[in-house]
Amino acid sequence: MFNSLSEKLDKALHVLKGHGSISEVNVAETLKEVRRALLDADVNFKIAKEFTNTVKEKAMGQNVLTSLQPGQLMVKLVKDELTQLMGGDAEGINLSGDPTVILMSGLQGSGKTTFSGKLANYLKTKKTKRPLLVACDVYRPAAVDQLHVVGGQIGVEVYSDKGNTDPVAIAKAGIAHAKAKGLNVVIIDTAGRLAVDEAMMAEISNIHKAIQPQETLFVVDAMTGQDAVNTAKSFNDILNFDGVILTKLDGDTRGGAAISIKSVVNKPIKFIGTGEKMEAIDVFYPSRMADRILG
Ligand code: GDP
Repeated sequence: MFNSLSEKLDKALHVLKGHGSISEVNVAETLKEVRRALLDADVNFKIAKEFTNTVKEKAMGQNVLTSLQPGQLMVKLVKDELTQLMGGDAEGINLSGDPTVILMSGLQGSGKTTFSGKLANYLKTKKTKRPLLVACDVYRPAAVDQLHVVGGQIGVEVYSDKGNTDPVAIAKAGIAHAKAKGLNVVIIDTAGRLAVDEAMMAEISNIHKAIQPQETLFVVDAMTGQDAVNTAKSFNDILNFDGVILTKLDGDTRGGAAISIKSVVNKPIKFIGTGEKMEAIDVFYPSRMADRILG
C-alpha cells in the first residue's frame, strides 16, 4: 500500500537519517522531495505546500540543525505532521439511538454495497449488534440482489421492496421493520451515479432529511485521486456527513486521497476497505497510515 509515496519519502529522508549534522539547505532539499512525493501521490498542491511549510517551521522551532540526531528528528516531524493531517486519533462511529441509523452515500462503484455488508459484519461480530441492511437503490435491481447476496454471506437480514420507487419510503419502512424485529442497527445502502449529478444529490438529501441518521458515511474509491476529493466536497456540501470510508486500499493505490479528503472536508476517515471479502475492513488509524506512507 502506498508504495510509491513511501519509497519516495524514504529516499528523501534517507539523506538526513543518521547524519550527524545538517544544514538549512539539507532541510529545504528534503522537504522539496517530500513535497514532490506528496504531489506524486495525488495530494492537492496547496495541501502539500502547507504541509512542508509547517514541517519546516517546526523543524526550525525545534532547533533541528543543532540537535543530536537531526535526521531522526526530521523523520519524526514529518510522521507526526502527516498523522495530524489525516486526523490525529482514530474516530469510531456513533452507535447511539435505538436503532442506530447509518446512511451510506457515494458514487456508483465506490464500494457502498460491499462496505455496507462489511460494516454490518463488523458490528455484528465486534460490537455484538443486531444489524439490518436496507436496499434503497430503486434504479438497479441488480444492486438490490447484490445486497441480498452480501446479507446471505454474513447472515444479516436485508430489507428491500423491489416494486417501490420511493427510496425515502423504503428507508422509513426499513427502520420500522428493524424496530418491529428488535434489530438495533439499520444500515441504509443508497443508489449512486457514475458522477455527481443533481438528481442523485436531491435524492440522498431527501433520504437524509427524512430519516435523520446518527451516522452519514461517505464511501469513496481511494484509487480515484483528485476526483475523490471533489466528490467528497460535493457530498459534504449537501449532507455534512460524519465520516469517510476509503475503499480499495488493497490495490495499487496512491495515498493522496486520505490526506487531501481529510484536509478539504475536515471530516474523519473512519474505516478503510482492503479487499472484496466481507472481512476486508479496518478501522482507520492516522498514525498507522502515516507509518505505512513513510515506511
Ligand atoms: P457500489 O456501487 O458503491 O455499491 O459499489 P460495490 O460495493 O458494488 O463495489 C464495486 C466493486 O468494487 C465491486 O466489484 C466490489 O467487489 C469492489 N470493491 C469494493 N470494495 C473494495 C475494496 O476495498 N477492495 C477491492 N479490491 N475491491 C472492492
